Amino acid sequence: MLDFLGDLKRTHMCGALRSADAGKKAVLMGWVNRRRDLGNLIFLDLRDRTGVTQVVLNKELNAVAHGKGEMLRNEYVIAVIGTVKQRDANTYNKNIPTGEVELVVEELRILNESKQPPFLPSDTVLPNEEMRLKYRYLDLRRDAMQYNVEMRHKVTKAIRDYLSAQGFMEIETPIMTRSTPEGARDYLVPSRVQPGSFYALPQSPQLFKQILMISGCERYFQIARCFRDEDLRADRQPEFTQIDLEMSYPQPESVWGVVEGFLAAAFKAAGHEIKGSFPRMSYDDAIRLYGNDKPDMRLPAMVDVRGALTAEELEEFSTKFRIRKELPIQLIRIPKAGDISGTERRTIGTYGAYQHVGGPNFVQLMTDPKRFAKDYSALYEKILAFAKVEGDDLWLLAAALNKPESTTVMDQTIQHFCEKCGFLRLDLAQKYTERHGAFKKTGDVDQDFRFLWVSDFPMFEWDKTEKRWNPAHHPFTSLHEEDMAKLEANIDSVHDPKSPLGEIRALAYDVVLNGTELGSGSIRIHRQDIQNKIFQALGMGDEEAKARFGFFLEALEYGTPPHGGIALGLDRIVMILAGADSLREVIPFPKTARAVDLMVDAPTPVSDLQLKDLGIQVKKSS
Ligand code: ASP
Repeated sequence: MLDFLGDLKRTHMCGALRSADAGKKAVLMGWVNRRRDLGNLIFLDLRDRTGVTQVVLNKELNAVAHGKGEMLRNEYVIAVIGTVKQRDANTYNKNIPTGEVELVVEELRILNESKQPPFLPSDTVLPNEEMRLKYRYLDLRRDAMQYNVEMRHKVTKAIRDYLSAQGFMEIETPIMTRSTPEGARDYLVPSRVQPGSFYALPQSPQLFKQILMISGCERYFQIARCFRDEDLRADRQPEFTQIDLEMSYPQPESVWGVVEGFLAAAFKAAGHEIKGSFPRMSYDDAIRLYGNDKPDMRLPAMVDVRGALTAEELEEFSTKFRIRKELPIQLIRIPKAGDISGTERRTIGTYGAYQHVGGPNFVQLMTDPKRFAKDYSALYEKILAFAKVEGDDLWLLAAALNKPESTTVMDQTIQHFCEKCGFLRLDLAQKYTERHGAFKKTGDVDQDFRFLWVSDFPMFEWDKTEKRWNPAHHPFTSLHEEDMAKLEANIDSVHDPKSPLGEIRALAYDVVLNGTELGSGSIRIHRQDIQNKIFQALGMGDEEAKARFGFFLEALEYGTPPHGGIALGLDRIVMILAGADSLREVIPFPKTARAVDLMVDAPTPVSDLQLKDLGIQVKKSS
């Protein structure tokens, strides 16, 4: 027989009681985390979101409560009324904040029972993730998950409060809408009223937030749900949350200031004081120094050692090694990882992403410092000093192979070469994580969280398969005002790999933390004539542009202020702050890598009747 809650109110949470409360009456409610039956004494660990309190049922003091206590099992829901008692010093539980007291029960109410759960929130060994996701409500009862859920709340609230104080208004935008291009497939929602027509779930609120600027809202933000049907990589979710914002009349720096402010607030909510403005780097520098547009600055940049060589030395060196002297000779250095065997050294360049992207086809590596020192003793000293190599560093030289016959024009760019080197740098950084230790948290925020703004991205990128220049960002991204003329002059050369379109810089920027992109944004095109040109460059004729974005192009014609904004992934930020190792740990109800919600079992087939209503017929795969 279960008891009713009646008008019983809890007086304390299970994590609250301390020695100072001894002698007080208390009413606690929660789950039976653990039960130890010692005959006349039954001990319960009673758990709620805030912690655990030891509860004692003593047969001699209260036979009725004790009798009921014998029926309790793990995860039963109970209320206990009793008196707080100081425990004997030798029985303190130092592992929990309530460990100096216990509650001696006068009345026990069993509010609900529980089936034997497939795993217990108190288990120290976790079940496999499928099990956790299927029984997510049990998983979420675990301390670690409660911590993550709370962290998410605190961080989101700090961001909301900060932005509100800066004059941003939180405005909702539709979930059922039209396609918004962010480079992924849309999730579609069929319309019943207009059979054959579909809404798209927003890949981002991009067009709405721009329209809000046209609407005079000046400063908008939203903790926005976005939906992208992409092939899921390990750490992606089809449905995710962005901190999305837009403002009128900004320079890029104005947007950066706002982001730095709300990130500082978010990090503070998690106990980290990050300060000041983040360092800035152009896309070109990021590529040159790190081979990557989201540099992880916890490890040293690459150094182009040509700066240490005379023209003759460079000539001799490049002929000997059959390398291209007009491209960088990169010294890649991993601190404290130098002490490896010759055999291991010879495997460098044969694994990881570097191998995967065909690095060895383009890059000549010199990985043997002893041999280099012997063959080029003078250069050796110069180069090492120039690149500030330390005695225990692992270092190597990477240069572009002189094999013009096997490469296309696009393959011979500095970018292409540096990217390959960047992959190698990261492969080595991964492989020697233990040795360099740069990824370990030190407690020093400036070292643990290396933020960076990367800006001046190219406006267009060469699409190898389509053999044309395509916008590198969503098509509402503005270019640098100084590059406008270049766009006008070259708009017809989108199929020419050597077109100056490749030199046009976008007013786009990314905020990067420890080698991961946290968010990206841009100053937008606010003039219809320029927007049309971009669509034209995209190969979109007037008709097509009108059909896809007619409403937006029209809106641009009614006095659109200059505007810009950004969006940051909330899930990732919370993941970093919670110290979690997957987005699924900080999303209460996430999807698997196959985009399945294991708890509710979605997606599912629907009834024929529902399909009929929608005018949809599903092709049965045989
Ligand atoms: N809409 C962009 C995105 O979702 C961000 C932005 O440009 O504000 O990635």
